[in-house]
Amino acid sequence: MEPAPSRRREEIDQQRLNSEIETLAAISDAELPAVTRIVFTPTDLKARAWVISRCEEAGLAVRQDAIGNIFARWSGSDPAAPAVGTGSHIDAIPNAGKYDGVVGVLGGLEAIRALQRSGFRPTNPIELLVFATEEPTRFGIGCLGSRLLSGTLSADAIAKLKDRDGESVDEVRRKAGFGGNLQDVKLPKDYYQGFVELHIEQGPLLERAQTSLGIVKSIAAPASLRISIEGAGGHAGGVLMPDRKDALCAAADMILTIENAARSSGAADTVATVGVCDVFPGAVNSIPSRVGMTLDIRDTDLGRRDGVMQTIERAAQSISAKRQVSVQSEVLNADAPADCAPEVRAALSDSCREHGFPFLEIVSRAYHDSLFLSRIAPTGMLFIPCRNGYSHRPDEYAAPEDIARGALVLAQSLAKLCGSSQ
Ligand SMILES: [Zn+2]
Repeated sequence: MEPAPSRRREEIDQQRLNSEIETLAAISDAELPAVTRIVFTPTDLKARAWVISRCEEAGLAVRQDAIGNIFARWSGSDPAAPAVGTGSHIDAIPNAGKYDGVVGVLGGLEAIRALQRSGFRPTNPIELLVFATEEPTRFGIGCLGSRLLSGTLSADAIAKLKDRDGESVDEVRRKAGFGGNLQDVKLPKDYYQGFVELHIEQGPLLERAQTSLGIVKSIAAPASLRISIEGAGGHAGGVLMPDRKDALCAAADMILTIENAARSSGAADTVATVGVCDVFPGAVNSIPSRVGMTLDIRDTDLGRRDGVMQTIERAAQSISAKRQVSVQSEVLNADAPADCAPEVRAALSDSCREHGFPFLEIVSRAYHDSLFLSRIAPTGMLFIPCRNGYSHRPDEYAAPEDIARGALVLAQSLAKLCGSSQ
């Protein structure tokens, strides 16, 4: 006889999950503890094959689409029903850590195995999704897999993106063995009944609150701009100050204006960063004639973020006039924020309560594939702490107990989101 649902108990195999995280970390182009896994490199392909083998060992049916998203499905008693999904990514930026993305993939797999071991029989299929090319390292824009799945960016636009060697997404993915039509990646709107991504927080709030779990309320909206400033170069000795059109001085003006615009938005959720500033010609005795900058700006409120962008735009015009330089800006992407789905948040918070686990309601300030998936499915995210909030660096660390607790709450939430034939 099947156990009654109320008595069903999932148990996470913490030791196995931990050793799988270590095994995956070793499939890397950097020396441990650093992890480098750039999408579609031989190392990435090896890591994908290893993850697929783990999924197959768990009895999941695996398929891959044209951009390389991996779907590993545990068929339910009603195979035609919409799936309940979980997953994250395994690509890693250069010199990253072991946990970003990986916790959601291997933790998701372990959650499914825990449900299997507990005797749970899902009505809806439960599916692990490993998103392709989440990190923007290779093609300049992140989350290509989930953008395609959700139709947020067109297949044509994605196919043409190029890496540093001038190879397009289309060429690179075909060489890596992913044929098929990128147009076909898009999922129908009722494909998922619900989707949950488990992830490390990549910030310090859970650790500070000494709370092991965070249920995400909303995912901040990122926008990025490329700003090009063109002034006039010249000899650092020969051109006197009144005659200068120094592009770097204009850039400095812009950067402080951007900082001020974010600081004075009226909300702590507004953040703006100039992370790249290329100076031409970059010689000690030459006036900078050209500067290329990137601006990353995020908020949980679309109107407020766009308001800050307009403030920056107006400031650019006045700096351009004042300093007689040209300032051009190009929007690279401007995505809308997402509120997590109430039913997914409820499944997560009920699961936490049933286990007696305290949790925090939290904003995701980094963006994730879930931001895009939320356009086509009720989506939520579950965060676990990472030490000092460090991420995207080799000393990124999440405690095995926290990972296991996250996987346990995930397992129970997946069960709640799909029907059971018990
Ligand atoms: Zn991530």
